[in-house]
Amino acid sequence: MTACSLCHRDTPEHEHLCLVHAGELRGWLAEIPGQALLLEEFVTPAGGRATQGRPGGGRAHSPAPVDLRVLTLLGPGRYDPSGPDDDGQAPLLALLGAWAGHIAYQYPAATRDAYGVQRSQPCEQAWPAGGETITGWCAWLTAYLPYALTLPLAADLYRALGQLVSRLRQLTHAEPRRRPMAGPCPQCEACALVRTDGQDTVTCLLCGHQLGLNAYDTHQAAVLAAHKATARPARAFELDKIAT
Ligand SMILES: [Zn+2]
Ligand SMILES: [Zn+2]
Repeated sequence: MTACSLCHRDTPEHEHLCLVHAGELRGWLAEIPGQALLLEEFVTPAGGRATQGRPGGGRAHSPAPVDLRVLTLLGPGRYDPSGPDDDGQAPLLALLGAWAGHIAYQYPAATRDAYGVQRSQPCEQAWPAGGETITGWCAWLTAYLPYALTLPLAADLYRALGQLVSRLRQLTHAEPRRRPMAGPCPQCEACALVRTDGQDTVTCLLCGHQLGLNAYDTHQAAVLAAHKATARPARAFELDKIAT
C-alpha cells in the first residue's frame, strides 16, 4: 500500500490517488459536459435580439455583454499540462485535449518496426471516439482514468480539473447537489454515503468506497433485514413480560 499523493489515505495497489480523490476526479469528468452546455447558453443570442436593428438603420442597443471569462473558456487556445502552473485562463477544449494527449503519450503502444521487430513506444495521439469535443474528451479521460491513476501525473490532473471545475461553477452557479443516503458504508460502516446528482453511483465521503445504485439498494435491504432480525426478539420478550 502507498499513500495518496494528496492526502494520508492508502491507495489501491500501483495507484497514486486514494479512492476519495479518484472518485472526485471521475465525478468532475461527468460534470464538465453539462457545465459547458450552460456556458454555451450565455453566448447564444436569444431569438436573434442582438441582430435586430432600428428601422432606418442604426443599432437599437448593443448586445448584452458576455463575461470575458466565458469567451475565454469556450474559445480556442493552447495548454501545456507539463508547463508552469495554469494561470486560470486555459480554454476548456484545449485543456481537456492536452491532458488526454499527455496521458496517451505515457501509454505504451505495441508496434513493429520496418524490420518486423516488436517495439513498445508511446502513443503519439489520443483519439476520442466521440470526436474532439468537450464530451468526447471527457469520455476519453474517464475511460483512461484507471491508467492515469497509475501515473505520478494523477495529482496534477486532479489539481488541473479541480481548478477548471471551480472556474465553471463560479460562472454557471450550478453545483451538483450531494444527497446523503440512509444506509451505512459497506466498507467502513460510517454513515457517510452520498449520491451526487447526475451520477449513478453512491460514494462514501470517509473511505471513498463506491457502489452502484443497485448494489446500494441490495446492501441497504440486507442492513434493514439484519436490523429487524436483531430487534424482533427483544421486542417480543418485552411484550411477553407485559402479558404476564
Ligand atoms: Zn487522497
Ligand atoms: Zn466508507
